[in-house]
Amino acid sequence: MGELINVAQERLRAQGGRMTIQRRLLFSILDSLGEHPTAEELLLLARKQDPDLNLSTVYRTLRWLEAESLVSSRVFAEERRQERFDAALPSEHHHFMCTNCKDVIEFDTDLFGAIKGQFQELSGAKVETGSIVLYGLCSKCRQTKNGNNLNLETE
Ligand SMILES: [Zn+2]
Ligand SMILES: [Zn+2]
Repeated sequence: MGELINVAQERLRAQGGRMTIQRRLLFSILDSLGEHPTAEELLLLARKQDPDLNLSTVYRTLRWLEAESLVSSRVFAEERRQERFDAALPSEHHHFMCTNCKDVIEFDTDLFGAIKGQFQELSGAKVETGSIVLYGLCSKCRQTKNGNNLNLETE
């Protein structure tokens, strides 16, 4: 925690940008949330503290962070074009998305190196980066599986 806000502050200073109250608020929410919010979700959270904040400020801040490689934008297949923002500082990690409640769980695996190696051997390509996304029902939704049936796709 506190990592994103510190790095972002340094970058802003180096660029002669200002750490505005709104930017600081958005950085600190992203920092402490540890989730993968959409811009709208981020706005809702931030408005609890600053009702004047608008969506375009949120997007502008997110795009700046993205350009600085401090957040990455991800689109999960389950949600079509819905973008989520990942504030995990650049690191190779993977995701599971629950097809029912849309919860995103991050995970690491030692096996990813083997997958890359196998693909490289088969294809002759050089893999630089990558990320696995798994889909299914989270443990909570499995327990209440006859809840609202939003599961339109079969895998
Ligand atoms: Zn992530
Ligand atoms: Zn779930």
